[in-house]
Amino acid sequence: MRFIPTAARPYVVRFGQTGVVAATALLAMAAAPLGAVGAPPPADDLSVPAPPPVTAVARPAGPVTRKIVFEAPLKGYRINSPFGLRKLSIEAKARAHKGVDIAAPKGTGVYATAEGQVVRAGYQAGGYGNFIEVKHPNGMSSLYGHLSRIDVHTGKVVAAGERIGLVGSTGYSTGPHLHFEVRRDGIQVNPAKVVGQSFNVKTRMPDLPPPDHDEFVM
Ligand SMILES: [Zn+2]
Repeated sequence: MRFIPTAARPYVVRFGQTGVVAATALLAMAAAPLGAVGAPPPADDLSVPAPPPVTAVARPAGPVTRKIVFEAPLKGYRINSPFGLRKLSIEAKARAHKGVDIAAPKGTGVYATAEGQVVRAGYQAGGYGNFIEVKHPNGMSSLYGHLSRIDVHTGKVVAAGERIGLVGSTGYSTGPHLHFEVRRDGIQVNPAKVVGQSFNVKTRMPDLPPPDHDEFVM
């Protein structure tokens, strides 16, 4: 004790003792078996009928919001050709690259970036090759091109991270890679700015009529 006036000491000591007593009481309570603390259970405990089991569950009045997160479509591979204007060595002029390219060995799994429904799956010669387009509940869609194999069909509902195909080099491609696009209102946006982002989407109750489209909230 460095400097405490003599008159204050008894208070300090008393306070410390109170603290010890309170702490001891708390420990005792913690150590006591459940039900041992407090009044004994009422004598008429057994005569009270048990409440009937709850059968009705309250239903939310309207749509509730949840989040979806866009994840990378390839695990462990980086973008090696970004979104935007670029000039390929095999082309005379620069032009817009409307997606990102992620190089990976042929046969590498390609995963749905988020939950959704396959709106297109097919083959485009001289372009995307084997490709899949998935519509997501936030209104965006994602497209996966140059696949060596397509594992889904149009209309299939896919979960976030579900494998939908394999990396290949079909269509307009010089080597195995995934061409990955994200579209908002039908226009390609930079996927690098979407992957890792979360979006609020409305979950609708089963008894409500299906919407034309889920509201997009950014
Ligand atoms: Zn590309």
